[in-house]
Amino acid sequence: MSKEALEKYDFNAISIATLASHSSLQIFRGAKQEGFRTVAIVVENRLWFYKQFKHLIDYFIVLRSWRELCRRDVVEELKKLSAVIVPHGSYVEYVGLECAESIEVPIFGLRKLFRVEADQWAKMKLLQEAGIPTPRLYKVGEEIDRLVIVKLPGAKGGRGYFLAKNSKEVLEGLRKRVEEGLLNSLEEAMIQEYLFGVPAYYHYFYSPVLDRVEMLGADIRYETNIDGLKRLPPKFSIELDLEPTFVVVGNIPLVLRESLLPKVLEYGVRFVEATKRMLPPGAIGPFCLESIIGEDMEIRVFEFSGRIVAGTNIYVNGSPYSYLYWDEPMSTGRRIARELKMAIEKGVLEKVVT
Ligand code: AMP
Repeated sequence: MSKEALEKYDFNAISIATLASHSSLQIFRGAKQEGFRTVAIVVENRLWFYKQFKHLIDYFIVLRSWRELCRRDVVEELKKLSAVIVPHGSYVEYVGLECAESIEVPIFGLRKLFRVEADQWAKMKLLQEAGIPTPRLYKVGEEIDRLVIVKLPGAKGGRGYFLAKNSKEVLEGLRKRVEEGLLNSLEEAMIQEYLFGVPAYYHYFYSPVLDRVEMLGADIRYETNIDGLKRLPPKFSIELDLEPTFVVVGNIPLVLRESLLPKVLEYGVRFVEATKRMLPPGAIGPFCLESIIGEDMEIRVFEFSGRIVAGTNIYVNGSPYSYLYWDEPMSTGRRIARELKMAIEKGVLEKVVT
């Protein structure tokens, strides 16, 4: 579908478009560094903020709500600008799955992956298919024999997640969330064994042009209130009966022990290979594996994102890893633009857009 749109594109004047949110400033800056025009798709009440960065943005497409992205005139405007949409972590959550995957504008990345990402079970299946170690999963109603984390669907930054020790606590928590409107049905929830260790999130980039997986960085998420509980002597959290929550507020840089890197890269490669087998042509561009590393140095992956993650915003001027590949300040945003540029130069744009 994007192929038809591409045929009418001016390859000398491609622009990079994204929703003004999440990691868009990094994406715009990277696009500019590589000589592209940029298009910010922005909702009215955020326009003033993004106008502060006018030097990074050539065109603004102003919407009343994100859901208007698939309106005919908006799509036509994007096509007129020879725009390639870069989907980031909030893209599907903001515009809805239907619009996200059917929009008739070329997308940098694998649009087939959006549907998999929207289904927590399909997501974990893909990781298992890749042979990447994952936590044990439970269905609602199944007997629970250890501490579990219960997750709600969609990228809501951990909102509504909770911990439970048995199936009764799982059911109570889920019913409460249905009442609060955070969940439609109990089955939508994903129940995972709670992994002990430290979190580590790896930022990768698969280049179809160079046919290689690059490790562009790593981060830790700063989550309220689980990270804040460390500041409180345990006696108080017990007395006050405080429940840990997992709402993301920011990201912290991480450099890993070098001896962990071969495994980290191996999992990235396995992930790409699994997407090539199960969702051809396979992953394109940035993706992230989210893990807990246990005291045995075992890396277990509990989640992935098939798009640029907000943790890459730390490395807007390159990371300790991206320097090793590129020897120049290479953010993930810039890496996307570089891939597009290389694909255009080699006449293989269809390898990086779907
Ligand atoms: P997610 O929405 O899957 O990225 O999860 C949000 C946060 O919950 C993560 O950043 C972790 O802090 C925590 N978390 C998620 N899954 C697990 C797990 N299986 N074990 C331990 N912590 C987890």
